[in-house]
Amino acid sequence: MNISTSIMLVDDDDAIRDTTEEFLKISGYSTIATSSAEDALEILKLFQPDIILTDISMRGMSGLELTKVVKETYPIEVIVMTGYIAEHSYEEAISAGASDFIFKPFRFEELSLRIKRVIREMNLKRQHEELVKKLEMLAITDGLTGLYNQRYFYKQLSSEIDRYERYNADLSLLVMDIDHFKTFNDTWGHLEGDKVLMELGTMIKSCLRTMDSAYRYGGEEFTIILPQTNLNQASVVGERIRAAFASKIFYPAEDQEIIVTISVGAAQYIKDESITSFIERADKAMFRSKQEGRNKVSTDVLNN
Ligand code: GH3
Ligand code: MG
Ligand code: MG
Repeated sequence: MNISTSIMLVDDDDAIRDTTEEFLKISGYSTIATSSAEDALEILKLFQPDIILTDISMRGMSGLELTKVVKETYPIEVIVMTGYIAEHSYEEAISAGASDFIFKPFRFEELSLRIKRVIREMNLKRQHEELVKKLEMLAITDGLTGLYNQRYFYKQLSSEIDRYERYNADLSLLVMDIDHFKTFNDTWGHLEGDKVLMELGTMIKSCLRTMDSAYRYGGEEFTIILPQTNLNQASVVGERIRAAFASKIFYPAEDQEIIVTISVGAAQYIKDESITSFIERADKAMFRSKQEGRNKVSTDVLNN
């Protein structure tokens, strides 16, 4: 486990730096050593170790200042070393952001134990952060399609509207609903219906730019937020998805080739309108597509 842990050693005392580095190497850590805080900061721009072990009293920038700068910028654990008990306090080091503190001269056994403890804490912290990230993703993702869910849709749409008010860049919305999906489910079963939903999710994702975001708004309804996009461009995107989906053949049972289509509505945001009015206009456009025969993209009348 030690083998992958990298430690940067910062000390202007050549003898201590060399022997400590030797010890760390023998212990299985990968090391990089430097004699000043300034050099350490330069190296950090190119390479970030897991841990920095730094002396406090050095010519130029001190180890405590280095610790503060590092903690503001990088997710690196810092252990500080000091030569005089009276010179620097444990409190000072910890409040600068250090994970631990060791007095020189130290026994290597002590250093080793302290490093191991910091690694344990670091790994726990990383696992925790990963878990939190995963939970955050789960909370905004629709399990079936992998698209974002409705809750996140409202959040994102309102922040895109805020952005619109600040920068006045175009903002458009697509709403899409599967045609005659109840009949499909009733005929081929719910599981086959779920496959259609998954396929539509995949297809939508493949048709979007990185700044666009797609949501499963309801059971068989999807929305797409298109920043910096006017109504014409939005309806081109909608048309691309409609056509791609209509050309996909489903095989819900042996010897059954089934085409499923979607009806799409597009609306462009109008200054100062509410989020509900914006969604309603896109929804109305979608219903117009339904009324006019389905498998179609319509744009909101207010925008035209
Ligand atoms: P229209 O063309 O007017 O939209 O007709 P429709 O049959 O699609 O409309 P309706 O709203 O009557 O039916 C929607 C159907 O979507 C009903 C429901 O069974 C199906 N549905 C909703 N959520 C899911 C889901 O998670 N999985 C499956 N398989 N079907 C779903
Ligand atoms: Mg519906
Ligand atoms: Mg439907």
